[in-house]
Amino acid sequence: MTLSKFSSLGIKPAILKTIQNLGYEAPTPIQAMCIPVLLSGKNLLGTAQTGTGKTAAFALPLLSQLDDKQETPQILVLTPTRELAIQVAEAFQSYARNVSGFQVLPIYGGVDISVQLRGLKRSTQVVVGTPGRILDHLRRRSLNLSQIKTLVLDEADEMLRMGFIDDVEKILSQTSIECQRALFSATMPSRIKNIADTYLGDAQHVSISAKTRTVAQIKQNYLTLRSHQKLDALTRILEVEPFDGMLIFVRTKSATLEIAEKLEARGYTSAALNGDLSQSAREGTLKRLKQGSLDIVVATDVAARGLDVKRISHVINYDVPYDNESYVHRIGRTGRAGREGRAIIFVTQKESRLLRSIEKSTRQRIVPFKLPSSSEVRDLRIQQITERLVRTSKKPELTKFRALVDSISAQNGIDATEIAAILIYEGQKDRPIFPTNINCDIKHGDTFLTQKLKKRNKSTSANSAHGPSDSCRSKHPLKRKVTKNQSKKRYFVPNDVSSNIKMLKYRIEVGRDDGITAANIVGAIANEAGIQSHYIGQIKLQKNFSTVHLPEGMPRQLFTHLRKVKIRQKELKISLINS
Ligand code: AMP
Repeated sequence: MTLSKFSSLGIKPAILKTIQNLGYEAPTPIQAMCIPVLLSGKNLLGTAQTGTGKTAAFALPLLSQLDDKQETPQILVLTPTRELAIQVAEAFQSYARNVSGFQVLPIYGGVDISVQLRGLKRSTQVVVGTPGRILDHLRRRSLNLSQIKTLVLDEADEMLRMGFIDDVEKILSQTSIECQRALFSATMPSRIKNIADTYLGDAQHVSISAKTRTVAQIKQNYLTLRSHQKLDALTRILEVEPFDGMLIFVRTKSATLEIAEKLEARGYTSAALNGDLSQSAREGTLKRLKQGSLDIVVATDVAARGLDVKRISHVINYDVPYDNESYVHRIGRTGRAGREGRAIIFVTQKESRLLRSIEKSTRQRIVPFKLPSSSEVRDLRIQQITERLVRTSKKPELTKFRALVDSISAQNGIDATEIAAILIYEGQKDRPIFPTNINCDIKHGDTFLTQKLKKRNKSTSANSAHGPSDSCRSKHPLKRKVTKNQSKKRYFVPNDVSSNIKMLKYRIEVGRDDGITAANIVGAIANEAGIQSHYIGQIKLQKNFSTVHLPEGMPRQLFTHLRKVKIRQKELKISLINS
């Protein structure tokens, strides 16, 4: 755990102010290590994965050093996918909220190039893009790298996996020798190491220590879900898990307040614990927790440092920790004084790598948590409400209320059953008796969904009769997700990862003789079609054509677009193979 503060790292005041407003309490370990290196102008080689706070680790120092006079782009970030390009561009935009005149431009394939050409003509300080499209702009001379001061390669191993590494090298070779370079990668395959050796010189190497630690006495579970499902999942855990004291970890100060408030609204006594609290308020909260007048505390890592309360039976990692050290520290708040403890971690699909790395470093398995189904929750809630009604029915003061019900009923023509139904409905809004099913996206026993999907895609046969359709919305599991920056026609991502996705076999007119690899195909289709790469199924390279399995229900416009997409200057001319 790092003890450093953002204010001591040398970040510009305007950016510090934004971080404060975002509720970030302290730099994550990767940030504490990278920010000084990047501010000093050195090259950096970072082993870090998504979820560690790596975007801010490079965005904050680079934004702190922008030259307000330069009108051409100063920072170029290369990402493997357009989703990541958008995400990184949005992060820059939000961190630079208080920097006047700041502009960032995301650049990726699959959208009309003219919008990007116009964007590049305006003064833009930061360009974030996928390698193929950046190269396109270099060829057209709409982008000039000679004035770029820092080049960041984000998720370099993914760029390698998706077949972009040659493009990345071409781009690297066009930056000036004085250009500062930072390369982030979750893993360091030899090709990435070679690139680092060639282009990063004596870069400072930064990685989060992966010490192995044992965490006996603590039963560990995980739950894979989507961010918006976390609160519902937490509420269900609170209902079914017998707990004494509970500590819930979130990432920001604002989240401690938000979650504590939401739990209060659902009838749980809870309090926030964050670094903004005075020492006496913090001590007050801990005292109440120790004495049992408070059961749930929602905390940031900083505020919970060293916390020792024996009755904490559960630790919930509502947001994943930034590194394995913080995880071990967090869960060590339970299982105190020889008692048994339980730790549950919420992970989104893209954070599954972190889970694997925690398992590796603690040498312990984290097993899936069995979340109760909607019908189990319904039955429990009905039982609770029935018990409450029966208890209250014995209270003498009800006489007046019976008369009130009779009078409302007579005056409004609503019978007593109707009134009872209305009151129960009104009273259960925060904990609905008939909850919607949140299990649909939570797949138990499946830590690494991506791998499973890949396996399934490989074994899926391609003998479906369906071809490209005009709508993918209604009839299959791929639901479109459109953000304001993306082409509505082309982007779709699977919504329900647990459903069976039907794969269709397509032919594309590029093959081995064109010098392509399967990774080139994955990269081109993933970025042009907006399909996450793990939904691209089996690829077979032939002499002068190839076949690829793609999810059923491709919108017609996308199909037309993909026909014209080029790999190694040759159009794909994609067509469906009927078998
Ligand atoms: P990343 O690893 O860059 O994908 O970041 C993961 C998440 O952590 C993002 O939602 C960030 O907003 C958040 N984050 C990054 N740095 C901090 C910090 N120092 N404190 C709290 N949250 C952070």
